[in-house]
Amino acid sequence: MGEYEVVIGLEVHVELSTCSKMFCPCSTEFGASPNTNICPICIGMPGTLPVINEKAIECAVKTGIAFNSDIARTCRFARKNYFYPDLPKNYQISQYEQPIIKGGYLKVRDKKINLTRIHLEEDAGKLIHSEEGENFSYIDYNRGGIPLIEIVTQPDITSPEEGEEFLLKLKQTLKYLEVSDCNMEEGSLRCDANISVRKKGDEKFGVKVEIKNMNSFKAVRKALSYEQKRQISILNRGGKIQQETRLWDDKLQKTEIMRTKEEAHDYRYFPDPDLLPVEIDDEFINKVKEEIGELPDDRKERIKVQYGLPTYDIDVLMSEKIIIDYFEECSKIFKNYKLISNWIMGEIMSLLKGKEIKFLFEKIPPEKFIDLLKMVEEGKITSTVGKNVLKEILKTGKFPSEIVKEKGLLQIGDEEFIENIVKQVIDENQKAVDDYKKGKEKVMAFLIGQVMKKTKGKVNSEIVEKTIKKLI
Ligand code: ADP
Ligand code: ZN
Ligand code: MG
Repeated sequence: MGEYEVVIGLEVHVELSTCSKMFCPCSTEFGASPNTNICPICIGMPGTLPVINEKAIECAVKTGIAFNSDIARTCRFARKNYFYPDLPKNYQISQYEQPIIKGGYLKVRDKKINLTRIHLEEDAGKLIHSEEGENFSYIDYNRGGIPLIEIVTQPDITSPEEGEEFLLKLKQTLKYLEVSDCNMEEGSLRCDANISVRKKGDEKFGVKVEIKNMNSFKAVRKALSYEQKRQISILNRGGKIQQETRLWDDKLQKTEIMRTKEEAHDYRYFPDPDLLPVEIDDEFINKVKEEIGELPDDRKERIKVQYGLPTYDIDVLMSEKIIIDYFEECSKIFKNYKLISNWIMGEIMSLLKGKEIKFLFEKIPPEKFIDLLKMVEEGKITSTVGKNVLKEILKTGKFPSEIVKEKGLLQIGDEEFIENIVKQVIDENQKAVDDYKKGKEKVMAFLIGQVMKKTKGKVNSEIVEKTIKKLI
């Protein structure tokens, strides 16, 4: 595809992590029974009036600050009119001429992807189409009225892969800011992609096609890649690209036409007369700035320099503010940064099992965690024992050194003792030993496991392996 270049712009809807909806006190909880989180305001009963959720304004401002955008001192809500069952008022409260955020950018591998605007709006209800053969649909209004921001990029993205990376970075940043959980499966992040191709060196953009209905970042990349090829092949055949909206079909791995430009809506936007313009002053902006503290990109850079961790570790630790905060607290009292990082990414994460990480950090405060890591570092306990001690802290709340003392978990370094146990295991597992000798390497793990079982994990597995090899 040498002679063409691709031009991509994204429109991303993100549900905000507020407790209540955009204009009413209903809960935003995901997964509640259908039509239980609703009230006269969010189902559009006559005579009700919307009240703006300040927390949503704060989330939008936070996002704007993080992306170096201009924050409007005055912004305004507008009615976007359309007639569809997911919208009981027959209009969606959105923003049009006066969005809350303008401009700014996100850096993807040191390239700036510029933003056009970010505006606030309310989500629509969710239609659930019935099984084949039934000619009706269900509607759940729980989602109706949940606050969203819509982030619109400029057509600065130049490959499907860059589009995917942009989304990953966006998600990472918004999660870090605690603006949204960006969970694509639960629909809290949704992305429409606009794409066109043009001859290399052309100044004018090609005709764009909008793609909808991607349900993962990977699907966005694949849909863009499919569409890039489709458009180029039309042009190569001397054809013209139609301006249209297409749907990505994940099963068939292709896009299909949904509507042409002629069928596009006219939304007849106008300022919502029920809502006053929102005034945002310096005091409010400074308060939000203070709450964010160090900006994510700056913090990443500092962490890299200060602790010398690999990029992979930094990305995992920075996935949530609370995780990197915990790491930095630990680093104040223990200088083996890589060991801290390994244990947070490995053992702490594996304890999660549906719990919130906040819960684990409360149960295992830095002093207790580091007490444990010191024993591991000094070889007083093995990592196997260390993992069990972590679970024990959760149960009892005791200090690791106390648990190790009470349960007699110190690592056994006594060679004669280890040899004796290994001899026992060899005697009891003659068949496994024979298999190993015949070349079944996998059996070694089993034999080591048997020794670990007898010693409750208190011996170093590398020493055990050496001893087994010596004695058989
Ligand atoms: P519309 O008027 O159809 O809504 P906009 O100009 O508002 O179009 O742009 C919507 C999105 O499409 C933006 O993300 C923008 O970057 C992107 N876009 C605009 N023109 C093109 C183009 N020629 N090729 C690819 N993306 C484009
Ligand atoms: Zn409501
Ligand atoms: Mg537009």
